[in-house]
Amino acid sequence: PSVFAGIAQGPEDPILGVTVAYNKDPSPVKVNLGVGAYRTEEGKPLVLNVVKRAEQMLIHNESRVKEYLPITGLADFNKLSAKLIFGADSPAIQENRVATVQCLSGTGSLRVGGEFLARHYHERTIYIPQPTWGNHPKVFTLAGLTARSYRYYDPATRGLDFQGLLEDLSSAPSGAIVLLHACAHNPTGVDPTLEQWEQIRQLMRSKALLPFFDSAYQGFASGSLDKDAQSVRMFVADGGELLMAQSYAKNMGLYGERVGALSIVCGSADIAVKVESQLKLVIRPMYSNPPLHGASIVATILKDSAMFDEWTVELKAMADRIISMREQLFDALKIRETPGDWSHIIKQIGMFTFTGLNSEQVAFMRQEYHIYMTSDGRISMAGLSSRTVPHLADAIHAAVT
Ligand code: PLP
Repeated sequence: PSVFAGIAQGPEDPILGVTVAYNKDPSPVKVNLGVGAYRTEEGKPLVLNVVKRAEQMLIHNESRVKEYLPITGLADFNKLSAKLIFGADSPAIQENRVATVQCLSGTGSLRVGGEFLARHYHERTIYIPQPTWGNHPKVFTLAGLTARSYRYYDPATRGLDFQGLLEDLSSAPSGAIVLLHACAHNPTGVDPTLEQWEQIRQLMRSKALLPFFDSAYQGFASGSLDKDAQSVRMFVADGGELLMAQSYAKNMGLYGERVGALSIVCGSADIAVKVESQLKLVIRPMYSNPPLHGASIVATILKDSAMFDEWTVELKAMADRIISMREQLFDALKIRETPGDWSHIIKQIGMFTFTGLNSEQVAFMRQEYHIYMTSDGRISMAGLSSRTVPHLADAIHAAVT
C-alpha cells in the first residue's frame, strides 16, 4: 500500500525522452540526433581543454574553500557574464544599470526571470515564438506568466515568417513580454537578419514591449561571440530595458555543471539595486544559492585573456564542425538526388536543423534506420559525424521517396 498509489505515470520529456529510447535500442548503427549536446567527430562528448585547465588550476589552489556563495552567486562570474553578452563597452554596464545573478544554467535563469516578472511587472503575458524550445511555455507558465505565441517560422519557405511576426507583435498588448532567441533559434535554426532585428527592435520599443532574451548559443552559431550577441546589443544600445538569460551549457560545454546568469538591464543604477534585492527574494526560497564549481570555471576562463582566447578557438572549432556537417549532409542528399529543396540545411544556423520531415517520416527513420530525433523533425547537427552522414542521408532519402 502506498499513499502515492493513485499517481499516474507521467509522460517522458519530448526531447530528453528521445535519448531514453535511443539508449534502449541495441542496433550498432543507431544515431542520436535528439539531444542538443555537442559531440566530436568520434561521437564522444567533449570537455574543452581550456575547461580542463581551469579545473586543474582550481583544484591546485590550496586556499580554495567550499563555502556557500551569496544568493546572487559568484560576483566575478556575474560581472564577466554581463560583459560577455553586452560587450565590454556597453553603456548599461558602465552606468551600473545591470543587475546580474548567477542561476542554474539557461533554464534556471529563465525561471528566475519569469518569477521576478510575475511578481513585479504589470503585464503577465509573455509572447513566445511558434515554434520554440519545448520547455519555454512550461517554464513561464509555472513561473506565473501567461504564455502566448507569435508567428515565427514559415514551413513553406523553411525560413522566417517575418510578416507574421511583425503582425503578431503589433497586436500584442502594450507592455507585453516577448521572448526572443538571441541567436541560433531552437528548433528552427532560423534567425532574423540584422535589418529584421532592427525592425523588430523599433516595433517593440514603440509599443513598450519588454524583451526577454534567451541566449543559449552565444558563439556556437557563427563561431564569434560578438557576432552572436549583435541582436541583444542593439536592444541595449537604445537605452531601453530588457531581461537576458545566459547559458554556458553549449558554448563552454558545461551542460551538467548548470552555469548561467540572469541579467536585467534597468533604466537607472538605483533601479538595478532594487531589482537585484528582489531577485534575491525569488532565489532564496527556491534553492538558496547557486553551485560554486561551474561558475568558478567560467570566471577563471573569462578573466584571463590567454584562457579567453583559447576558449574562443575551441568554440570556433565546435561551430565550424557543425557548419561542415551541414555542408556534408546537403551534399550527400544532392548526390542521392533526394527529391525536394534541401538548401535550408545550409542556410539554417546553430546546433539544429529543422528538416521539414513530418512525424511519420521521423517514426519511419527511427524504425528502419535507428536514427533518433524529436518528432518535429529537428536534428542536432552536433550529433552527426562524417561517418554517420551517409546513413542519415540514406534514411532521409528513403523517408521522402
Ligand atoms: N534555451 C534554449 C533555446 C535552449 O535550446 C536551451 C537548451 O537546450 C536552454 C535554453 C537551456 O539550457 P540549459 O538550461 O542547459 O542552459
